[in-house]
Amino acid sequence: MDFTQKADCKAFQFPAKQGSMLIFHTVDQLSGYLLHLKQQGQTIGFAPTMGALHRGHLSLLKASKKHCDKTVSSIFVNPTQFNNRADFEKYPITIAADISMLELVGCDILFLPSVAAMYPSGTEKRTDYDLGFLETVLEGSSRPGHFQGVCMVMDRLLSIVVPNHLFMGLKDYQQCMVVKRLLELKGWKQVIQFHACPTLREADGLAMSSRNLRLSEEQRKTAPAIYECLQFIKENLQPGTLHSLKQKACQLLEQKGFKIDYVEIADASSLELIQTWNGTQSLTALIAAYLGDIRLIDNMVVTP
Ligand code: AMP
Repeated sequence: MDFTQKADCKAFQFPAKQGSMLIFHTVDQLSGYLLHLKQQGQTIGFAPTMGALHRGHLSLLKASKKHCDKTVSSIFVNPTQFNNRADFEKYPITIAADISMLELVGCDILFLPSVAAMYPSGTEKRTDYDLGFLETVLEGSSRPGHFQGVCMVMDRLLSIVVPNHLFMGLKDYQQCMVVKRLLELKGWKQVIQFHACPTLREADGLAMSSRNLRLSEEQRKTAPAIYECLQFIKENLQPGTLHSLKQKACQLLEQKGFKIDYVEIADASSLELIQTWNGTQSLTALIAAYLGDIRLIDNMVVTP
């Protein structure tokens, strides 16, 4: 799929300096500046995003600011990770508000590249990342090619920024595992310290997400049912077969009008799907479900 033209429209031009935050559009300028900081012995923290920022994103930046001398964020709606063109087309863009939020939280550097800057050889030229089992379950099987696109963009971003610390959200549980795998594949595990940060939620439990902006008023009222469903699983988890628990959880969502992609319970560290719980294994429940054409995901560790 060629997303280039549409995506290039999303590369807004802003002055290089906005308040106290530096904004870079080109790879050479950013890497040159970061090299200068590293030569001064400064540690770099990085939190990549696709924009339409909310407090969940900002929590990653706050974590970075605690750990590192300088904090870098990026906003890039990555065309190669969308297996659904409509989802890409409708991805919310709120650049001016994003910049204000980043400044407020004290982000030092924002990288705002164009598609051409990120993919000089085009978006069609693919590297094959060996993600093994991770690519065959849950988001991997539901969104073919998605994690290859995630690896493509993360490979490029990490090669440019070369941070000491990388901050990503557990809201995207499987993505965290995929990026950790990428760090192994690239031999970066010892160089870049990975931090998986907790999911920030709205007061009613809905996991913060850029996609929430697309929910209608009515859908927004229904959306916290995903969180309620995860809690239901947590509260009712018993050793033995998990079949009827998952079935009840599905019913809860269907009654509210969700179209379910998956409701699964998996080993928290391997993501192997678990049908029968031995009572000791750490488990995570993961849900992907649609409200209209908006796909929401969430997860929760359900064992003590
Ligand atoms: P995105 O802009 O959706 O690609 O997300 C950028 C980063 O923010 C990813 O590491 C996400 O996992 C993380 N993130 C998204 N939503 C949340 C949230 N509600 N709480 C914490 N981190 C989040």
